[in-house]
Amino acid sequence: MVNSITGLISNIQRYSLHDGPGIRTTVFMMGCPLRCAWCSNPEALSIEKQLMIFDQKCTLCGECLIVEPEAISLDGGLRVDRALIKDIESLAHCCPYDVFEIIGNEMTVDELVDECMKDEPFYRNSGGGVTFCGGDPIVQADFLVEVTKSLKNRGIHVTLDTSGGLPWDQWDKLASAVDLILYDLKLHDEKRHIEYTQAGNSLIFENLDHLAKLGKEIIVRMILVPGVSDDPKDIELRCKRLRQSKANVSLIELLPYHTLGKGKYTRLGMPYPLGRNNEKDKVNVEEIIQIIESIGFKVYYRSP
Ligand code: SF4
Ligand code: SF4
Repeated sequence: MVNSITGLISNIQRYSLHDGPGIRTTVFMMGCPLRCAWCSNPEALSIEKQLMIFDQKCTLCGECLIVEPEAISLDGGLRVDRALIKDIESLAHCCPYDVFEIIGNEMTVDELVDECMKDEPFYRNSGGGVTFCGGDPIVQADFLVEVTKSLKNRGIHVTLDTSGGLPWDQWDKLASAVDLILYDLKLHDEKRHIEYTQAGNSLIFENLDHLAKLGKEIIVRMILVPGVSDDPKDIELRCKRLRQSKANVSLIELLPYHTLGKGKYTRLGMPYPLGRNNEKDKVNVEEIIQIIESIGFKVYYRSP
């Protein structure tokens, strides 16, 4: 039977080694309830298809002026007024030099499962599987429940990487269906959470309590953005709240901040939200590790 529900996917990355056990296929879903200032996947934040513009490839050939005469100007170089674009698909297809790229590939459940199953031998040999990340996959939870069921029927290990930023009843079935959850805890201080992610964190901590009741294995991830999310006191409070939740946390993974996604903001016509480039500022990783261990969690720092 063909399953006709569709999902919107920004990218599929093969041979991933950092998104759960073994060798994995990581599926980047579109849509996210948060807007983290350090996000390295801005193309996946919206649930709508996005247009990336690689203006350095433009030869000023003029083909796109025929398709989008109001949105495009070639005076002094390629200029695109995104608000005036009528159809991003026609624009993307008209350029012979691949200046335009559409982000967002609509796939059915069966198409995505077939794509993931191409790497089955790697999963079997390495203890790997498939990881859904994004964006935040819980935005498309109904679609992913069906994909997960199908993968599980084929004996594939499935991991969900989520911010936990949507009401529990919107993604409880998905949480129940997967094998492992990677759960991002960004800040304990709610005011700062709102300042840096445009969303509160009470729902995220409440959802931890739901996950605890489910007993599902969780790896908690904390990104160490210098001067933003690396305050040892805030990390201590996050860990204490984790303890209080009684969630089945097997590991806390500390991730270094990087600015590799910065160029994507330019190509999407978006400002990079973290104004100051603090990539090189020092983070006191040793102190943070000590704090986490003193609260009784196993911790791993993924060095840059
Ligand atoms: S069609 Fe492509 S290469 Fe030609 S002017 Fe437009 S953007 Fe530039
Ligand atoms: S939760 Fe992840 S995908 Fe969403 S904005 Fe934050 S970093 Fe980006």
